[in-house]
Amino acid sequence: MWNFVEAAVRDVFRAYNFQEIRTPIFEATELFARGVGEETDIVSKEMYTWEDRGRAESDKGQSLTLRPEATAGIVRAYIEHKLGDRGLNKLYCIGPMFRRERPQKGRYRQFYQIDAEIIGPASAGSESPARDAEILEMLATLLDRLGIRDWNLELNSVGTPNDRAAFNEALRKALDPVKDKMCGDCQRRAVTNPLRVFDCKVPEDQPIIETLPRITQFLSEDSREHFEAVQEILKAVGVPFRINDRLVRGLDYYTRTAFEFTHGALGAQNAILGGGRYDGLSEALGGPAAPGIGFAIGEDRLVMSLKETAEGVLRKPDAYVAPMAGMNAAAARLARELRRHDLVVELGDDTFRLKKSFEAATKVGAKYILIVGENEVTADVFSLKNLATGEQVSVPRRELAARIRA
Ligand code: AMP
Repeated sequence: MWNFVEAAVRDVFRAYNFQEIRTPIFEATELFARGVGEETDIVSKEMYTWEDRGRAESDKGQSLTLRPEATAGIVRAYIEHKLGDRGLNKLYCIGPMFRRERPQKGRYRQFYQIDAEIIGPASAGSESPARDAEILEMLATLLDRLGIRDWNLELNSVGTPNDRAAFNEALRKALDPVKDKMCGDCQRRAVTNPLRVFDCKVPEDQPIIETLPRITQFLSEDSREHFEAVQEILKAVGVPFRINDRLVRGLDYYTRTAFEFTHGALGAQNAILGGGRYDGLSEALGGPAAPGIGFAIGEDRLVMSLKETAEGVLRKPDAYVAPMAGMNAAAARLARELRRHDLVVELGDDTFRLKKSFEAATKVGAKYILIVGENEVTADVFSLKNLATGEQVSVPRRELAARIRA
């Protein structure tokens, strides 16, 4: 199932001209602290961090962290290797991420993400709403391709840092008289980072949150135009979406477009993927201006939502080759021939009695069983038995592959 997902990902992403980048599993703690944001939950309580014992004196005491997400590492690589010289970069990466979470269904401390980013100098068009729409359309294509039908795309704009400053001000004012009636987390957020109040899942807080101002009321003309342009393209290419003006995302560096795809079958942890634009991230990490947009798919959850729908994506063996006593070598030759014709073949062992071979063939779900005995080898004709129907035919060796495929 994981291979099925990753093969589809590579195939679809290639059609959009993305290339794979592999970044290290751990990097300097400082990268994530700056790239993800000091006051985020991820950095403040979820990272696996340790001090390097150091080989060289200069490494000693360096703080290292298992990557909690992929974007910071990719942008670090973009800066370090001057990838901006190549113009627009379309990069993806598949691998494990680590967060200290309370494990539950769909939430793990080591989990897998499929991450993609479009990043480059503004002169290469990296700021264009066309890139936002392209990424969203690619995701819709991927989910359709995987056979995931009931996904929802939720879309918002979180504006520029300037827009957000005004919004934060208004939020603080609105929260001030009501925050005492809210949960402990919200009381803290109201002071440190009022935007995060929208992440609150506590039912009693929801009526209060409903009355708060929304970011959409504070978007500058530029941000509004960008947001509308994205929507216009999505409509033109036929990708359905829903505006969710409470969607603020967990990370600090997001600008303008923010989005999430959810899936009904997943329950409380229903977000399969999230992403957005992060125009200021490269500069925050000490690099050149490099607007970008990206997303991270939770691969564990994607696989989970597939399990219900995608029976039959796994290819069962086409044939089980069953050697009679002393026939291992002849059976190996036959199996090799069939596998070279791109058939999936399971090979038995000549110590198995016929009954055991049939049981083994049935257990692996093979379509056919092929008995290899002395008579068959001498005649160069084999009996091919369909395990589902019981039908049995004699087939010359050279016609076997075509017959099995048919
Ligand atoms: P984030 O990087 O927090 O935006 O998460 C992107 C996606 O990764 C989410 O939509 C989830 O599908 C997945 N994800 C995040 N944290 C976890 C976790 N602890 N376990 C499993 N999947 C996760």
